[in-house]
Amino acid sequence: MTDRLAAASSPRIYLDANASEPLRPAARDAAIAALDQPGNPASVHADGRRARLLLEDARERIAGCFGADPAGLVFTSGGTESDALAIAALGQGRRLLMGATEHDAVRAAVPEAAVLPVLPDGTLDLDGLESALAVPGEPALVCLMHANNETGVLHPVEAAAALCRRHGALLHVDAVQSAGRLAWSLADLGADSVALSGHKLGGPKGAGALLLGRAVEGFRLQPATRGGGQERGRRGGTPSLPAIAGFAAACVEAQQGLSRQPALAALRDRIECRAAALGAVPCGAGAPRLANTTCLALPGRRSEAQLIALDLAGISVSSGAACSSGKVARSHVLDAMGLSALAGSAIRVSLPWTVQGEEIERFLEAYAALAAGVPVERAA
Ligand code: PLP
Repeated sequence: MTDRLAAASSPRIYLDANASEPLRPAARDAAIAALDQPGNPASVHADGRRARLLLEDARERIAGCFGADPAGLVFTSGGTESDALAIAALGQGRRLLMGATEHDAVRAAVPEAAVLPVLPDGTLDLDGLESALAVPGEPALVCLMHANNETGVLHPVEAAAALCRRHGALLHVDAVQSAGRLAWSLADLGADSVALSGHKLGGPKGAGALLLGRAVEGFRLQPATRGGGQERGRRGGTPSLPAIAGFAAACVEAQQGLSRQPALAALRDRIECRAAALGAVPCGAGAPRLANTTCLALPGRRSEAQLIALDLAGISVSSGAACSSGKVARSHVLDAMGLSALAGSAIRVSLPWTVQGEEIERFLEAYAALAAGVPVERAA
């Protein structure tokens, strides 16, 4: 085999879990089993009832993982749809407030929202939230992510929820990145609604959920598709049973694997320690964070050039701010943290549940070459 062929066949290193986690084995098995179900969960015959049973079992298992009422769980296509569905319903007649580092799924759903500042470490400025809530007028809907997708920074959701309650505001939490990576329940967060996405915790792409707390369970959702009245009229269209069954299995497996998080944090810390010695700046490192995520800025090196060099070396990372066109956008998250000088030079390394220590070593070798400005070799 020529060197080029050998290089092309060496395994890639996937460090982009915050874009999508690798499929978990239990999720694959559950999705494949559901693919073989011919019935539609809306049909009354035995095949339909069997499909319905699978759907309701998935609903109970997912709700159970997050201490939610299955009746308040609405299946969707993913995090984006869950955010949009929640905001359209809960935002009716309310002032909209959102954190400055929200994902585009939320930013696009509330373009007119007032922006809540974050502190330099990336966490929500609670004084800023309190001032915004104290403005006289209609009550607010606050949209706040649990964990940031670019930096892994965790917002003080419980404290924000207490402030919201004091001011009669509702709280929607985008927990797409924290689900399956941290133990939390709907009650712990104090949220009125929570958005989840199956592929972010090792399920198939194409399924997500909106969890509604008791106070808003009766709210009328305004789905983009009403169709046949599925999900009790809250989201029309035949649900993707294989993706949902896989989502439920992934949730359970991810919850069972939470004990691995300290090991991921140790690998993340090893990356940051070695990268800092090469001149990199770990962004948000002073805040409470997800164990699997680091945002590394290499001053003077464009994010896009870093991504391409690492990609050619067989390593998948992200800028964290990639848009759907595949282009690298400037990071509004780092801008909001006052790190504008670094916003064009950061990459996000997000460790998947499958990661191995030796993969981190190979990443660090490639990163050292990148930082030194020498051509990055494909990882052996
Ligand atoms: N919210 C956050 C914080 C995310 O990171 C993402 C995806 O990156 C989404 C929402 C959108 O989720 P989905 O891809 O399932 O629509």
